[in-house]
Amino acid sequence: MDDQAHAARTMWNCLHAWWTWLAKDKRSLAAADAAIRQARKDIDFLAVLPAQAAQAVLKTYFQAWKNCWDGRADEPNFKARFRSVMSVDIPQGRDLQIKRVHRRWGMVNIPKVGRVRFRWTKDLPGGKKANSDNRITGARLIKDGLGWHIAFRVQTLESKPELHQGPEVGIDAGVSLPLALSDGNHQDHGRPPRLPDGSADRDKWLTADEKAKLLGLERQAAHRKSFRKPKERTSNRLRATYTQIRQLRAKATRRAVDWQHKTTTTIAKQYGTVVVEQLNITNMVKSAKGTVEEPGKNVKAKSGLNRSISQEAWGRTVTMLTYKTARQGGTLHKVPASNTSLRCSACGFITPGSREDQATFVCKNPDCGWSGNADHNAARNILHLYRMGHALIPAAGRAVVRRPRGVKPVTAR
Ligand SMILES: [Zn+2]
Repeated sequence: MDDQAHAARTMWNCLHAWWTWLAKDKRSLAAADAAIRQARKDIDFLAVLPAQAAQAVLKTYFQAWKNCWDGRADEPNFKARFRSVMSVDIPQGRDLQIKRVHRRWGMVNIPKVGRVRFRWTKDLPGGKKANSDNRITGARLIKDGLGWHIAFRVQTLESKPELHQGPEVGIDAGVSLPLALSDGNHQDHGRPPRLPDGSADRDKWLTADEKAKLLGLERQAAHRKSFRKPKERTSNRLRATYTQIRQLRAKATRRAVDWQHKTTTTIAKQYGTVVVEQLNITNMVKSAKGTVEEPGKNVKAKSGLNRSISQEAWGRTVTMLTYKTARQGGTLHKVPASNTSLRCSACGFITPGSREDQATFVCKNPDCGWSGNADHNAARNILHLYRMGHALIPAAGRAVVRRPRGVKPVTAR
């Protein structure tokens, strides 16, 4: 599988080099297709990749350009060996031959690998249930620190859910609370105390023992690295330590995603209308750093905040909330992030200045003087903005009947 993934990455890099080198009028899908076929004939290690997976690389590459032109992403770039996620696509579902062999295990055909066993975690439309509306349309294999994972693409027909009659709620990706709700509830996961530089503990999903182990491994890696001479290969011992570090990190990520899934499901079931702030995380990271001529102020504190926002993976939470509320018949609304952390939710008075690092909000209006949790205050302001009609994208009435349903893997980009 590793060979296939390396070949897929190399295919991407070759394709990108070829595409950007080619004159604009010569660029076409057919030419790219022919080039890929030729590359698979000429280069032995590229032939390891099944023909369909190679075509999937081309498709993903074109999608990357489309995402760029539509403003959703930056330009596609080369994929570095140690920084990119290893993955192989199986674009067609008909050859998979999925069979359940045990309560917890299934078998699947992987091209050029053969029949492999996988952990059965969710029911798949197969056997007697499979038809043109309910079927598996493909799969994707992804590697993380703990090994290879398979995610099936599934197409199912679902009846339109009834309109959710639940209450409205504003949610803030808090600084002191991971998710603060406007009705005073919050979804916590026992976050350990903040570090002296204001950043959140990045290994908060690990137990004390695991953290101690991780620290030991990181020290060991640093020690072993200190013996490495320039241009020398990474020793097997150092590589083994890196693997152990990766495994612990992958474990932490899994726990984080599990918490996100459970939390967003609870929220989608409980509330009919969910309101969140429109946050552009990439822009926030960029603005904190500033430019060379105009370096950003307070970079360290801001990067700490950014890190904790990125860590909570706010974007992923919003994505989950979007499809989960839709499935429950509810709606998700986004409001512009303006003064939500500075405004008093009791009287509407805006206290100027930054107050990103305080857990308690104290109103500066002499007639009010309200004080309370800063994240709940922001969540109430978000709901207030929605009620005043500031919602950005009205998601109401967007009933998606035919929707591919599958568990998004932890490592999905
Ligand atoms: Zn006030």
